[in-house]
Amino acid sequence: MLKKAFQNKLFIGGEWVDGIAGATIPVLNPYDNSELCEIAEGRAEDIDRAVEAAKAAAPVWGRMNASDRGRLILKLADRIEECTEELIELEARDTGHPVRDARKLDVPRTAACFRYFGGMADKVEGFLPPVYPGMLNYVQREPIGVVGQIVPWNFPLMFTSWKMAPALAAGNAIVIKPSELTPLSTLRIAELMHEVGIPAGVVNVVPGYGHIAGQRLAEHPDVGKIAFTGSTATGRRVVEASAGNLKKVQLELGGKGPNIVFEDAVIPAAIGGSAFGIFHNQGQACIAGSRILLHEKIADEFLEKFAGFAKSIRLGDPLDPATEMGPLTSKMHQERVLEFSKIAVDQGGEVITGGKAPEAEALSKGCFVEPTIVKAKPGDRVAREEVFGPFATVMTFSDDDEALALANDTAYGLGSGLWTRNLPRAHKFARDIHAGMVWINCYKVVHPGSPFGGFGESGYGREMGFEVMREYTQPKSVWVNYDAQIPPHYER
Ligand code: NDP
Repeated sequence: MLKKAFQNKLFIGGEWVDGIAGATIPVLNPYDNSELCEIAEGRAEDIDRAVEAAKAAAPVWGRMNASDRGRLILKLADRIEECTEELIELEARDTGHPVRDARKLDVPRTAACFRYFGGMADKVEGFLPPVYPGMLNYVQREPIGVVGQIVPWNFPLMFTSWKMAPALAAGNAIVIKPSELTPLSTLRIAELMHEVGIPAGVVNVVPGYGHIAGQRLAEHPDVGKIAFTGSTATGRRVVEASAGNLKKVQLELGGKGPNIVFEDAVIPAAIGGSAFGIFHNQGQACIAGSRILLHEKIADEFLEKFAGFAKSIRLGDPLDPATEMGPLTSKMHQERVLEFSKIAVDQGGEVITGGKAPEAEALSKGCFVEPTIVKAKPGDRVAREEVFGPFATVMTFSDDDEALALANDTAYGLGSGLWTRNLPRAHKFARDIHAGMVWINCYKVVHPGSPFGGFGESGYGREMGFEVMREYTQPKSVWVNYDAQIPPHYER
């Protein structure tokens, strides 16, 4: 049983309302596939209602004193911290995140993100370019109005904050569609927003299926911007759907992150960091370091120790504080990830460890996959496609040129990492790797102050940092002829 009962309703215009179709979606606990609760299924008409509510609220919120807006967002950050225990449990049950991760990462990072952007609300400055004598030009950044946000199932709580916090700070009203697999924390955040005084209609949550509710949100003519996190294939559909009103689009898509371990790496650090890079959150992360590239001199030593580390990871009930790895988020996804081990073997790859569901009876009902390490060749499907599971593909290289060629041998370009004590080499790779993020002697470090996003088929636009404030605002250039004389170009 969940501590908090969800009301089988949508959150629109500051109220819990029924879905127009009266349809529901069961929400399952991936630990044992038992039903946690049912939620209302939002359809296209519900998205339309939510956009109407957001449209009415947008001018009020957008014109509010920016520091008052910021203060409400800061209050929300405090409220999230007060609700830490409840949110940890919610995320663990709904998504399978182990409570130790939710406590260390998901909940504090969510609060930190709202706090950072709460502080940003009154710091979005315009500028005054020097123009012609007698004329003043000022450029101000205005909110877009109504923004649509589509959040996936891998980090529902944290990604809700990454999407909502900057959009709110910039003065936009939001319609957000969480994944129907993991909607609970987003619904709860909306309720907390209401509690702290964020006005009705500023945030509207419509859980539902992507091809129905998500599609409508992406094509809605009154939505000025759509921010999407998910697969590259769906990202393309979002772009097509957005064409009707030429809305702004921000895409945070897949990845096949190269994680390079050079011969001079500090091996214990590289092992711990690489394990975090691919096994944290069961590998369900767009920035996962899923291609581990090893210098041939240290490959055997690294692999032996890395496999030992993988085998020692404790799989179990996400609610157990000792659990280090929980289940994947859905049965369908578990099957998809397991299929990749068969694909690897069919293409001549070698499964070093894992590649199957755990045998323990206690875990048999859940969506578990053992931490998996597979040796493969460049060009194999497991070296190219995003598995999105606890699945490391390992390849070797003999020199820096080969390492760089392997690292960049992907259509994606999101996260990347390298482990070396050679400073010039580290900076050269940071320059040459085709990726939006490079971690040197660390992996998957994020902060609300640093932009997050990718190159190539990993999408465009950035979450977080000041960059994201540009995504959620639009510049307006205002010209003033301040001495009321005839402007220069009009003189005859
Ligand atoms: P999707 O890209 O299909 O789903 C992501 C989100 O988009 C969900 O909320 C989904 O809703 C919604 N969506 C689906 N279709 C549409 C549409 N036509 N218009 C608007 N929104 C839509 O990913 P999957 O859940 O199917 O996962 C498949 C693969 O995608 C994963 O294995 C992984 O490789 C990648 N992925 C990457 C993520 C990332 O963080 N970059 C996150 C999630 C997945 P619904 O759940 O109802 O389909």
